[in-house]
Amino acid sequence: MIFEGLADKLQGAFDKLKGKGKLSEKDVKGALREVKLALLEADVNFKVVKKFVKKIEERAVGHEVLTSLTPAQQVIKIVNEELTELMGGTQSKITFASNPPTIIMMAGLQGAGKTTTVGKLAKLLKSQGKNPLLVAADIYRPAAIKQLQVLGEKVEQPVFTMGDKQDPVDIAKAAISHAESNGNDVVIIDTAGRLHIDEALMDELKNVKKAVKPHEILLVVDSMTGQDAVNVAENFDQALGVDGVVLTKLDGDARGGAALSISSVTGKPIKFGGFGEKLEDLREFHPDRMASRILG
Ligand code: GDP
Repeated sequence: MIFEGLADKLQGAFDKLKGKGKLSEKDVKGALREVKLALLEADVNFKVVKKFVKKIEERAVGHEVLTSLTPAQQVIKIVNEELTELMGGTQSKITFASNPPTIIMMAGLQGAGKTTTVGKLAKLLKSQGKNPLLVAADIYRPAAIKQLQVLGEKVEQPVFTMGDKQDPVDIAKAAISHAESNGNDVVIIDTAGRLHIDEALMDELKNVKKAVKPHEILLVVDSMTGQDAVNVAENFDQALGVDGVVLTKLDGDARGGAALSISSVTGKPIKFGGFGEKLEDLREFHPDRMASRILG
């Protein structure tokens, strides 16, 4: 599970503080050194760690904490608040169009979990009373269309496809007309992915964006790739502009470096987390709940 290693190490650092009763500045600084190492071992971005620890030190080495009757608890509370802040602070929701359909464009590299996430998101939105149309606009990956159709069947929501011979821009535009005439209030477009970011991919995504003006561009990244995921997010955001991130495979990511870095590095919120391969394994991302997982 996510944050396993980090949670153990922080627990260790704070247990030492708890055993001490009153704390000196030296005690707090010692604990923060351990926090810093633990975060680096969890593959959190170096600059993010530096800023984070400095901020905590400023807050925790003050008079209020050191003279408090429960100083260790105070330090833990501060770390909890700052971890929450690091992951975006408050929960960030999808923007729905005031005039439906809401158009959601999914982007990401091949293998990140994009197509699976389209199915999961459709299920989640359906449970919230929406009627999403899934759109197969990844015309390159063999079996992507079929995969989406299977997901659509499972979720019992329609899938729009024009095969793999049409331009993704035309497919996306036709899908929106289809949604308008069939009462689908959300359109989720599964776009192409590649193994690496390249100009052709970005051009195609930019063209789709320009043609359909999505209300929401969600970037799907694999949390298990750590800082690579952060770099991918930065690149996509610079080239395409994204509104939020979906971090997949959190169930297999024991370290959590991407989750803790991506929103401070890119300035974009993590809107959803993937916690498994099943359709029900997509959850809204709550920074405060994730911070509590770390601190137990
Ligand atoms: P795409 O190429 O980005 O469309 O990737 P896919 O949707 O085909 O997913 C690639 C693999 O990742 C599949 O085997 C999915 O089952 C798996 N996957 C996607 N999301 C998650 C997740 O949150 N947790 C786990 N464990 N596996 C996931």
